[in-house]
Amino acid sequence: MWIISITCEDTTGGDRPGEARRDLLSGMTIERWVPSQTYTRQETAILKSLRRTRKLFAFLRDHRHEIFDDEMQSALEAMYRNTGAGKDPVCPARMAMAALMQGYLGVSDAEAVQLTMVDLRWQMVLDCLGNTEEAFSQGAFQEFRQRLIRHDMDRALLEKTIALARTSEAFDYRKLPKDLRIAIDSSPLEGAGRVEDTVNLLAHAGRKIVDCVADLLSWPRERVCTEAGIPLLAASSVKKALDYTWSDPADKAEAVSVLVSQLASLEAWIRDRLPHELARPPLQEHVETLRQVMAQDLEPDPTRGGDRSDKTTAVCIRQGVAPDRRVSIEDKDMRHGRKSKSKRFNGYKRHLARDLRSGLILACAMTPANRPEEEAADPIEQDLVHLFEGELPVTNLYIDRAYINAPLVDHVLEHGGEIICRPWQARNGELFSKADFKINVRDRTITCPANKTQPFDFGTTIEFEPEDCDRCRLRDQCTDASLGHGRTVSIADNEQLQKRLRRLAHTPAGRARLRERVPVEHALARAGRRQGRRARYRGVRNNLYDWRRASLLTNLEEIQRHLTLAAAAALAATAKPRRCTGLTVLRNAA
Ligand code: SF4
Repeated sequence: MWIISITCEDTTGGDRPGEARRDLLSGMTIERWVPSQTYTRQETAILKSLRRTRKLFAFLRDHRHEIFDDEMQSALEAMYRNTGAGKDPVCPARMAMAALMQGYLGVSDAEAVQLTMVDLRWQMVLDCLGNTEEAFSQGAFQEFRQRLIRHDMDRALLEKTIALARTSEAFDYRKLPKDLRIAIDSSPLEGAGRVEDTVNLLAHAGRKIVDCVADLLSWPRERVCTEAGIPLLAASSVKKALDYTWSDPADKAEAVSVLVSQLASLEAWIRDRLPHELARPPLQEHVETLRQVMAQDLEPDPTRGGDRSDKTTAVCIRQGVAPDRRVSIEDKDMRHGRKSKSKRFNGYKRHLARDLRSGLILACAMTPANRPEEEAADPIEQDLVHLFEGELPVTNLYIDRAYINAPLVDHVLEHGGEIICRPWQARNGELFSKADFKINVRDRTITCPANKTQPFDFGTTIEFEPEDCDRCRLRDQCTDASLGHGRTVSIADNEQLQKRLRRLAHTPAGRARLRERVPVEHALARAGRRQGRRARYRGVRNNLYDWRRASLLTNLEEIQRHLTLAAAAALAATAKPRRCTGLTVLRNAA
């Protein structure tokens, strides 16, 4: 293993062992990794053992110098140049490689650090076989991850896998068309934070404040609870301390009132005792969390004279769910979401865009579970534009109906691309559906089954003439509006596209084209399995990092699979044909 010590002062130095650069501002020394490209006997033996299981370790060993080439290492080093403070970092390329292996095995930070000392596969890939110490500390590893995220280096690493696919000749890029066939899809990701009911959410938010105040004042928690007038939070369980019959609505309302009044007492005490700390993090954030939970989950109790302007007393738990309701104290971004009408989940939706020709994942996105899919298309589009240096060479976009209103769809159409997607289903119970009306997009007219025609504008709801509908013999089959009101039909903004999609779904060839998007579901399943059903981290951005890492590992496995197939094909082509006894006999006979 070569490690070049790059002390950032003389930026002309650099690429041979012992050369050094020094940054005039920071004077920081950054190790550059120059991994060995020859194999020791021990490495050969380890690689032999990786033929069946955990094969990606072998791929990482073989291609580490290509993944972490000079360009990538310079980008990683650049993450440190602006800081100008702190200790000299551990070689960033090796930490990034460890982060990839962590995602591959799905282990914790602590275990990943330990594996750098006890696992020969990790040591082989990190070029430190025989090390008797951990390669870096857990704190340095966590800090490195946050630095990667801040500098969007997770996206750079995902893009690197696409560049690697080209240079490794896993795919014959000369034969692949330059335009892209991209498919986008999403799957649910359960959040890492605990989802709690209103009483526990309020108590949890209150406890965070109490703990923070106890830290600031160096007091025990119990003393803060006593002095701030919130003895409920000194108990191990707030429901146990309240001791009400939770199935009784009156008892429950009383319990909520008691808790809310004690929380108000806590806030008033902090305002009085710690006014300066209240205006800055971390106390400010904890108090804002409590206010957010109270605002979303409580409403004035009209039965007890509750006043909307005073949420401290006479409040009850809100009927229905507040829009964008926070469901966890520890993870502020988690939200309620739906897999289907009946299946709910709490957390995030993870999205990816796969190139259907090469099979590589090109871009990823992460959204809270309650956000519509179309919101994820924006960051995916930005990543694609970044990847293709300002271009969006998408000629075929395969999407789920939920993405159809995304600006990406308009942009692909504007550039002459095609959208392949199932159309919205027109349903109207037993009555005529929209599909029974003739829509002329060019003339902007709609004709009903009784041959009455109305003009329309896109994105509006039109109403047929009430006099026509009142007299119509088909009225019972068409509308249940009262007399004097005509049948209404909504015209979508993208009605023209919907009409084309309806035509597509009605032909066998069109349905075959719709099925072409199935590989994105396979990629989603593979990357999803790598990331797991439950989030490893808290927050949208941290989980996006994890999702990009799972996706890039999926890409590396795809490249490895193609290289293995190509090697097997090359071997078969060059192998001597085996002597065929039967043919020899025939030749002799002739
Ligand atoms: S009820 Fe009105 S819209 Fe419906 S078929 Fe009759 S005239 Fe047409």
